[in-house]
Amino acid sequence: MRVIIGGGGGFIGQSLSKLLYKRGHKVTIISRQPGQKRITWDDVTKKGIPPCDAVVNLAGENVLNPLKRWTAQFKNEVISSRIETTRTLAKAISLSDHPPRSWTLVTGVGYYPPSRTQQYSEDSPGGDADFLSQLVRDWEAAAQLPITDPNSKTQLVIIRSGVVLGRDGGALPSMLWPFRLCLGGPVGSGQQPFPWIHIDDLCRLLCQTIEQEGKDGGVLNAVSPSSISDTNADFTRALSKALKRPAIFPAPAFAIQALLGNERAVMLLEGQRVAPKRTLQKGFTFLYPDLNSALAELLSI
Ligand code: NDP
Repeated sequence: MRVIIGGGGGFIGQSLSKLLYKRGHKVTIISRQPGQKRITWDDVTKKGIPPCDAVVNLAGENVLNPLKRWTAQFKNEVISSRIETTRTLAKAISLSDHPPRSWTLVTGVGYYPPSRTQQYSEDSPGGDADFLSQLVRDWEAAAQLPITDPNSKTQLVIIRSGVVLGRDGGALPSMLWPFRLCLGGPVGSGQQPFPWIHIDDLCRLLCQTIEQEGKDGGVLNAVSPSSISDTNADFTRALSKALKRPAIFPAPAFAIQALLGNERAVMLLEGQRVAPKRTLQKGFTFLYPDLNSALAELLSI
């Protein structure tokens, strides 16, 4: 199969591409920069997408980049890098003479309102709690294909992901050095839920949606099954145990707020208890269902 991945040169895209190559598929990346096996967003706007079997969008400015101040301009980049790229792909798919079988968008569990007690599955309401949930709502809306052709064969799959834990990017590598220096600890109170998934499981789930036959769209939560009860303190304890280092220095909420701004700090200081209900119903099996197995693999040499 030929798979086109918007933003495919990033952390998740590189792992997904490796897995797709291993499974015998061909990959073309859409990037802001031209290059080998790449097309640009301008190419897609002007010429549409090349014939393909699946399209995935992973493009998006890094929301938690601590080097970027939370200004109106940066917020707009965070929003438009997701919504405009998604809209561009949805439009290109709807205009394509050979539309793909699947169209997959990776968003986030930030769709659901932050809560320490409420439990969410794919059909729980959300999308209006705060900046992030409104962003996810609008991002997912941008992926909808116009219902001009009732026989359209393209299935839209929305993957709402938790924090992706991997060796080569995402949140984990930047969390490791304070722990290795014995300066690690929980974030804020540590009582906030910590929805997460191992990068290999996320890529396997993406592969499953890309390869699936027949009509089976909709939302899938990409979080490990133990996520429903994991808190930031649980993650801190598991990381401390796996690294054999103490974790006694909490990162105080006021410091996180000062560094990231209040609206963004919510993403670290609050969280959602999320179940991968529909994902499990579809028969997906997690290789890393709990923190101990995931961290053991990610921290092994
Ligand atoms: P990365 O930051 O590693 O990669 C995202 C890609 O998006 C980049 O490689 C870049 O491609 C492209 N991009 C960045 N800024 C812009 C911009 N302003 N306009 C257009 N394209 C841009 O992200 P991840 O791989 O970690 O995440 C992929 C998607 O999954 C993101 O949308 C993210 O929000 C979402 N997600 C990630 C989670 C995580 O824990 N990592 C959790 C939940 C959701 P290029 O430079 O080639 O144009």
